[in-house]
Amino acid sequence: TPVILWFRKDLRLDDNQALNAAHHSGRPVIPLYIREPQAAGTGPLGAAQAWWLHHSLAALDGSLGKRQGRLVLASGDALAVLCALIRESGAEAVFWNRRYDPSGMSIDIRIKHELEKQAVEARSFGGQLLHEPSRLMTGNGTPYRVYTPFWRALEGGCEPEPPLDAPAKLLLASQLPNSERLESWKLLPVKPDWAGDFADLWTPGEEGARKKLHAFAEDALDGYKQNRDYPARPATSMLSPHLALGEISPARIWHATRGLSKRVPATDIVHFRKEIAWREFSYHLLFHFPRLASANWNDRFDGFEWRNDGEDFKAWCRGLTGYPIVDAGMRQLWRHGWMHNRVRMIVASFLIKDLMIDWRRGEAWFRDTLVDADPANNAASWQWVAGSGADASPFFRIFNPVLQGETFDPGGDYVRAHVPELRGLGAKYIHRPFEAPQGVLDEAGITLGQTYPKPIVDHANARNRALAAYNATRDAA
Ligand code: FAD
Repeated sequence: TPVILWFRKDLRLDDNQALNAAHHSGRPVIPLYIREPQAAGTGPLGAAQAWWLHHSLAALDGSLGKRQGRLVLASGDALAVLCALIRESGAEAVFWNRRYDPSGMSIDIRIKHELEKQAVEARSFGGQLLHEPSRLMTGNGTPYRVYTPFWRALEGGCEPEPPLDAPAKLLLASQLPNSERLESWKLLPVKPDWAGDFADLWTPGEEGARKKLHAFAEDALDGYKQNRDYPARPATSMLSPHLALGEISPARIWHATRGLSKRVPATDIVHFRKEIAWREFSYHLLFHFPRLASANWNDRFDGFEWRNDGEDFKAWCRGLTGYPIVDAGMRQLWRHGWMHNRVRMIVASFLIKDLMIDWRRGEAWFRDTLVDADPANNAASWQWVAGSGADASPFFRIFNPVLQGETFDPGGDYVRAHVPELRGLGAKYIHRPFEAPQGVLDEAGITLGQTYPKPIVDHANARNRALAAYNATRDAA
């Protein structure tokens, strides 16, 4: 009798523990993907990631095709879909890799329980993280709340399991059930096609992920620690969307960095691993403190008086704040579904502190527009910037968008790449066009307030306003 292999955010054949177990069970496999109803708790699938999902499912179907199979697509409540498929195919087992977001976990617990009641074997596996979130705990047996000791524990004691290669052949069920058509899911934008530029940068699917990892290990890992903060440099792996949909496993990435120490300085390898460990830490937090997804981790922030001005929010979303580094980041996000980490911190600080807009609105915008939208990383990072998270940056550390731009994009190349109307400005004024003499603006073809906005807030005043609001919250607490 067949085994149903239920793919979720693990759209790969490589290092896939559930797939490997299904393969070794000797039973024919039915590869299934279910489009589940909008999951409560961690929010709906964003539009940018829907684009990615479409192409990723097509790629997975292609890989299965090379093994004389195909992916079965179905929509609806996962338990109902599974039960119908079990009846139709006579399957006696369902295998999947675990997910760790609160809503996904509660669905899976219910499904496991119901399938076992029907004497169907329901087996779940790890591999989406380097370690199960309950494996690394403090000496007191409590979850970590601070990153550094978490990292030490991860680095010190536990080498992740070696990754598993994809089986060269898969025994697939000879009679695969009918599948819905991917096109009928309408995951791609129609008009306007705002994802038109995505394909310049991305190749969804595990082949694309493998190539990104290879290119990064060859070209950019050497110097990563030094270069990773400069958004104009191609210095980071850009593996995040592949990780978000599980087209590559963190163990595969971790192990790829082994054996490079002859060529790449250890400090770069360690620093890169530390970033992978941040992802691990975000999941550790979300697993142990599920409210992190949508509520202030530190409830002192519950009394914070957000301004939530609609016009300011719109200007931020569109990259029309008058602060070039912020605008470049927000436009990079719109254009490519991705933004450099340093700039994510700058735009998030600007939204929360300069504009005093609730971090949850920023988190939701990112969720909709990022191809790498991730329930753990997104919420944990927003709360980190807000100061409301575990081990967060303190609220009073408020980025100055001009100085951040000048430090991390000193020549202005990043701004010029994403804010074309400022292309004519040299390095001196590219991050502060509002201070440029009229002659310089004229020469660059810029009319402030017309071709490019004047700053929507004065940073110094906005900073004082934010600190006053923060102090009021503390006084009230
Ligand atoms: P690399 O520098 O090559 O790092 C490798 C991997 O490590 C990344 O792919 C990612 O999985 C992980 N990683 C790197 N930095 C972080 C970090 N600070 N926190 C957690 N994991 C990290 N990352 C997401 O994957 N999804 C999100 O939705 C997301 N939202 C964010 C929101 C804000 C406000 C901020 C400040 C950061 C957010 N990040 C998010 C973290 C980080 O910006 C991205 O993971 C990183 O920019 C991805 O680029 P990369 O793959 O080239 O990173």
